[in-house]
Amino acid sequence: MKTINGRALKQYDREHVWHPYTSITDPLPVYEVRSAKGVRLILEDSSELIDGMSSWWAAIHGYNHPHLNEAVNRQLETMSHVMFGGLTHRPAVELASVLLDIVPGNLDNVFFTDSGSVSVEVAIKMAIQYWYSRGKSGKSKFLSLRNGYHGDTFAAMSVCDPVNGMHHMFGDILPPQFFTKAPPCGFNDEWEYEYLHDIYRTLEDHNDLIAAVIMEPIVQGAGGMRFYSPEYLRQVRRLCDAFDVLLILDEIATGFGRTGTMFACEHAEIAPDIMCIGKALTGGYMTLAATLSTRKVGDGISSGCMGTLLHGPTFMGNPLACSVAKANIELLLSSPWQEWIQRIENQLIQELSPCIELKQVADVRVLGAIGVIEMEEQVNMALVQKSFVDKGVWIRPFGKLIYTMPPFIIDEKDLNRITTAMVEVAAESTV
Ligand code: PMP
Repeated sequence: MKTINGRALKQYDREHVWHPYTSITDPLPVYEVRSAKGVRLILEDSSELIDGMSSWWAAIHGYNHPHLNEAVNRQLETMSHVMFGGLTHRPAVELASVLLDIVPGNLDNVFFTDSGSVSVEVAIKMAIQYWYSRGKSGKSKFLSLRNGYHGDTFAAMSVCDPVNGMHHMFGDILPPQFFTKAPPCGFNDEWEYEYLHDIYRTLEDHNDLIAAVIMEPIVQGAGGMRFYSPEYLRQVRRLCDAFDVLLILDEIATGFGRTGTMFACEHAEIAPDIMCIGKALTGGYMTLAATLSTRKVGDGISSGCMGTLLHGPTFMGNPLACSVAKANIELLLSSPWQEWIQRIENQLIQELSPCIELKQVADVRVLGAIGVIEMEEQVNMALVQKSFVDKGVWIRPFGKLIYTMPPFIIDEKDLNRITTAMVEVAAESTV
């Protein structure tokens, strides 16, 4: 049996293994994690890092949670996977039922996918097929917001911000879509109708071509960690109805409590026609995402000339992933999660706000369990990363952003370690 340890492991990784958004010839340094428990990542030299990232929004209950471990182990003894074509199983059906009980509005159908990006692909197909079935095959374009981010696969890339969406080199082969200004209003800003000007004009002029508006509700994540007014979202829902365009909400990052409501669109008291979820769905245990739609959309697609939704991945509805997702949602629902998020939000506001005084800091913003320090300049990722590790904290900055979205179970002391490190790193950065 082959084992690779210590420095050889790092070296092999460096030479042969791609990491997200990095080079194979000159990769940024990586840290080897040996295990993880609660809010701590334990590195191979036994040092511990307090996790400020929840493994990119996913590990909301922390790592190695007994309840989630038990769900996986129990399912493993019965069946780890079986194809979903022509077969079904309790983990998928029960998860669908738990989900449909908590999602907003009248979302009524669930399509399980393997990742967030693929759930966006499916949402895009659903919208196109819906209008096709209704005899409006010309409605096959999407209206997206600047600064939006929806994933790395091709249709998903086409609705990401064409400039900062990390995908501009594929521009020539991506289907052209419509884009409007990012919402110009912050979360608490006074509402002004002129904020809608751009999106209103685009919908008015092109609704005969547009299948759906696709957007991240309330928080634009990877496109800049920007929070916008719930009223903007409410008004977009109204415009979609007025111009006969579907609304797809990408709740992949925001879903499952992160912003203080179970789904971010609840801040605006509206619901989408199609919704994408992922990331925290399994509590960070396994890759699983889903695309949900209303019965109107589901029936529309199914009554068309194709009669079927044209998608069906090999690992659709994986029983292990569905079991742990159900256990994760039940754990969340049985916890005082709203209190946790409120406490985290209060502490983030109190402990991050002072660094707005630093001249190298452009903005500090907090919403729910998300805390962001936006710097004036791009941060040096490798240096800043090392600095956090030296301080015993796991924070992964990008661009000008130093941000945290910790596991919901984090206590006051550990969160203080994270915020203290963030403020120190911001202060150490030069302009
Ligand atoms: N949509 C949003 C809002 C996201 O934040 C992400 C992931 N960062 C995705 C889609 C893509 O999800 P995945 O990485 O699971 O494909």
